[in-house]
Amino acid sequence: MSIFINRIRHDIKKRTLTVRENQMLTPNMRRVVLSGGDLANFVSISPDDHIKLFFKTENGFELRDYTPRAFNKETQELVIDFALHENGIATDWVRNAKSGDTIEIGGPRGSLIIEGAEWWVLIGDETAIPAIARRLEELPKGTNVTAIIAVTNPDERQEFKTNANLKLKWTIRPESEKTNPDELLFALENTNFPEGEGYVWVACEAHVTRKIREYLLTTRNHPPKNLKASGYWVKGQMGAHEKFE
Ligand SMILES: Cc1cc2nc3c(=O)[nH]c(=O)nc-3n(C[C@H](O)[C@H](O)[C@H](O)COP(=O)(O)OP(=O)(O)OC[C@H]3O[C@@H](n4cnc5c(N)ncnc54)[C@H](O)[C@@H]3O)c2cc1C
Repeated sequence: MSIFINRIRHDIKKRTLTVRENQMLTPNMRRVVLSGGDLANFVSISPDDHIKLFFKTENGFELRDYTPRAFNKETQELVIDFALHENGIATDWVRNAKSGDTIEIGGPRGSLIIEGAEWWVLIGDETAIPAIARRLEELPKGTNVTAIIAVTNPDERQEFKTNANLKLKWTIRPESEKTNPDELLFALENTNFPEGEGYVWVACEAHVTRKIREYLLTTRNHPPKNLKASGYWVKGQMGAHEKFE
């Protein structure tokens, strides 16, 4: 068996959606359910798809990337999980969003479909939990997968639904250590990669992702074609997204 990777493009459409619910999922994670007729024809076919959220400012719009955590075609409801941090336009919005508020979204513009991996390793921080949770839900039954996730507090650990054969490792570090890769690297060093062709997916703060990627490619000799490594945010920058090719 070998890994088959396919990039699929979608037509971009801007949609105006209404907040239906905004609930606390964990102390630092809020779950927002959005609905609206504009969700007709919405598609999200890969667990790490992302959409753009549009926030109005005095000078136009600020855009932020978020993962469609779930989409229910029948009820036309889109779920987004927001990791809260000190401040930012998206974080401030979700702290205050009420049922009936509206928000504009765009995308997903594309989806990366990965099939045929014999095992998976997923590494991320709290911003990657929505994509990791969705991947775990969608992996075929019995697939060997290790997920290594960094959060700031034991209360941030979530339970995941999966039919895969999951080994879950949480690492806890304080907010001030979010850009320190050491704990994730330590957990990764203690993770055996099974026989066969596997896929590794990484999404953390960009500096952390860079260190993990280096380790995977050099120390573990993991093939770059079977690795997707992204900086889901960059310390000190607003709305940043770094892709490592
Ligand atoms: C493809 C993709 C998918 C993503 N999916 C999700 C998702 O589903 N859920 C989710 O919560 N996030 C997700 N993110 C991350 C999210 O886009 C960023 O955290 C974003 O910067 C938050 O916007 P903001 O307006 O709150 O803060 P910004 O205005 O962008 O940033 C303000 C300040 O906060 C810092 N900052 C940003 N994020 C964090 C953080 N998590 N912890 C500490 N400091 C931070 C910035 O460095 C900056 O100094 C995703 C990112 C990408 C690229």
